[in-house]
Amino acid sequence: MQGLMMDGALTITSVLEHAERIHGHQEIVSVTAESPRHRYTYRECFARARRLASVLAGLGIGPGDRVATLAWNDYRHMEVYYGVACSGAICHTINPRLFAEQLAWIVNHAEDRVLVIDPMFLPLVAKLRPQLPTLEQVIVLCSEAAMPAADGLELLCYETLLAGADEDFAWPALDERAAASLCYTSGTTGHPKGVLYSHRAMVLISWACGLPDAMNLSAREVVLPVVPMFHVNAWSIPYSALMVGAKLVMPGPKMGDGETLANLMDEEAVTVALGVPTVWQGLLEFLEQAGRRLKTLKRTVVGGSACPLSMMEQFEQRHGVWTHHAWGMTELSPLGTYNTPPPDYDSLPREARDRLRASQGQPVYGVEMKIVGPDGQALPWDGKAFGALKVRGPWVASSYYRMEGESAAHDAEGWFDTGDVATIDPRGYMTITDRTKDVIKSGGEWISSIELENIAVSHPAVSRAAVIGVAHPKWDERPLLLVVPAAGAQPSAEEILAAFEGKVARWMIPDAVEFIEDMPLTATGKISKLTLRERFAEYRLEG
Ligand code: AMP
Repeated sequence: MQGLMMDGALTITSVLEHAERIHGHQEIVSVTAESPRHRYTYRECFARARRLASVLAGLGIGPGDRVATLAWNDYRHMEVYYGVACSGAICHTINPRLFAEQLAWIVNHAEDRVLVIDPMFLPLVAKLRPQLPTLEQVIVLCSEAAMPAADGLELLCYETLLAGADEDFAWPALDERAAASLCYTSGTTGHPKGVLYSHRAMVLISWACGLPDAMNLSAREVVLPVVPMFHVNAWSIPYSALMVGAKLVMPGPKMGDGETLANLMDEEAVTVALGVPTVWQGLLEFLEQAGRRLKTLKRTVVGGSACPLSMMEQFEQRHGVWTHHAWGMTELSPLGTYNTPPPDYDSLPREARDRLRASQGQPVYGVEMKIVGPDGQALPWDGKAFGALKVRGPWVASSYYRMEGESAAHDAEGWFDTGDVATIDPRGYMTITDRTKDVIKSGGEWISSIELENIAVSHPAVSRAAVIGVAHPKWDERPLLLVVPAAGAQPSAEEILAAFEGKVARWMIPDAVEFIEDMPLTATGKISKLTLRERFAEYRLEG
């Protein structure tokens, strides 16, 4: 017997309509290249999104067409998110930090028809334009006065288009399973792979993100996504924050600037900020140097790479800010697990508390997970056994765009192999030990590079640390620690290695330390172990 319930479509349009009606007065504040502090309301945002939708219709963009963006987090990018998806087209966000050839490959693979860009990306687009045959229009996100020199390109000005457009555009009814947005993974091998998000998945994950034991979003919070809108929908914030009516603060092109972030937080009374560890490291360094304490921030959500305990402690002890560790992937829209302490947290011994906090957290409702051994058999949730982490759920990609059925990462039962290696404790707290390809195998035993990196960065003379496996005559592979010293520090290798004593088994301690000037990062701000492995390919350890 079927239940007797109505069947409302879970579309982004439904989020927009709710947010406009109930929270229309709420503010969106942005830093842009033109203005240090632009502010307006949800209502104004959505009116302009409707204008954009009518512009796109006029350009012949219809359901399923791809409209790409190369843009920072600001109010105009929000308008594009909603204007494109709610008109039935697909908002394809592109990471401007990708190599130019990768970027061209992605636009061509997605067959983007329109590209919407921040003015600063014009030189990049001008260079690539001859290689982008599917592209019909380039729209520049600025006013007529701020339009850059066209560089021989045909360009449309966003504000001019909007000024002449219809604010009463009627949103079409959409199928909740229709595609809403597209984001390519920046895989280190082979071509990038497209993850095609549906309206339904975006609504479900936004709902899940808002829950109290997840991001705990509400109309009383002021949310600063430093995670870029060009990477996995800024962890759902453009939808989840508006679903509940939170004030939104956007850093524009200044997301790597500690001072701008600190000022935005204090002046706009930000309560929750989200970003990758490298961004927070820049902010914390700035705050230390400036001798400042954050005034209103209560929580940070950190993911994308492992967040070291030392960073969590710095946030807590210096600024009274609690850090929530989260784990996700482009293929998971992105949220998989979220770390909120259990009810008995305060009564646990210090060591158990630290282990728990450093973990990537429990799966949010909607995500199933398991770890499996080399034979594919499920491993116990005992906090010790580690294996390949697999997930499934309604916001996990079922295959890649234009590669349907070809993915080696999906098995017959619908599980997706994340490429991460993890342990899970009896309460479901999952700890990532490594990417599968970064695991160090020493004499048949696995060593977690993440665990070693977390210990290294807790040393005050260490700014950044990475551990890679290098060839060893006896043990096959041994860990090599690469360190960027903290400003003004000149630590010795012995001093840093001494920090590992008593924290891990002796045989796990790195064999050597090399000092480097900069840590190579990927386009999404993670340590590029591939680059480090290439750089230290000839490195020889003593036998
Ligand atoms: P991406 O699809 O580019 O967002 O990358 C996803 C990958 O980032 C995951 O498979 C993990 O390897 C890594 N990752 C994400 N969050 C965390 C985290 N909190 N700790 C460790 N690794 C993480």
